[in-house]
Amino acid sequence: MRKQVIAGNWKMNKTHTEAESFINEVKGKVPSKESVESVVCAPFPFLQKLVEETKDSDVEIGAQNMYFEENGAFTGEVSPVMLKELGVTYVVLGHSERRDVFGETDETVNKKVHAAFDHDLTPIVCVGESLEQRESDETMNHIESQITKAVEGLTDDQVKQLIIAYEPIWAIGTGRTASSEQANEVCTHIRKVVGKLSGDEAAEAVRIQYGGSVKPANVDELLSQSDIDGALVGGASLEADSFLKLVEAGK
Ligand code: PEP
Repeated sequence: MRKQVIAGNWKMNKTHTEAESFINEVKGKVPSKESVESVVCAPFPFLQKLVEETKDSDVEIGAQNMYFEENGAFTGEVSPVMLKELGVTYVVLGHSERRDVFGETDETVNKKVHAAFDHDLTPIVCVGESLEQRESDETMNHIESQITKAVEGLTDDQVKQLIIAYEPIWAIGTGRTASSEQANEVCTHIRKVVGKLSGDEAAEAVRIQYGGSVKPANVDELLSQSDIDGALVGGASLEADSFLKLVEAGK
């Protein structure tokens, strides 16, 4: 039985004060870690404070990106060592905004996934097709290629611990959600691809989130699908009330 993982992706939003008041509002109210993993992926400047505030709670803190080297002349970057030292436990990698706006490639995503495992951080690896790819029937091939490159060189045990977020680009921040059948169809395909690459046990264990305009009104339907094990949520994770409804749905 795979445990659901609900991760909020705040993107580049909130002030320090807003971040603190959000976490104080939710930290005593999220369900126990044993029933669902509740993760807040916040901007770098808030991570230290959020980790401190959530130490004895069921909320986990994640970063939204990192570089793959441990240290060195990489101006503006943040390393896995730094995140680990802070007490961060998850890291979102290869989000479509990173790929589209900041030129991240499948190769850099793969290096980052390795770096995350090397430093005991759980990677949430994002994959997803554009509207153009969906309309020209390239979704499944594109997803297969992204997954294959992301997991290259990982052991089967590492793949078991991976979280993959299926996020159709046309559904991110658009209010347009994939239907639960559309979302599940791709998540089932992802599980098959993982099975082909890393074996049945890894396919059974890997957790696959759906992301793209998830909100309290559609989360139950999405999470009830056979191959969807959680959600990666942008807009609807910004308000404490809404985040609490989402994590409740994951129980
Ligand atoms: C995201 O940030 O990964 C995302 C899915 O955003 P939204 O929920 O706002 O579509």
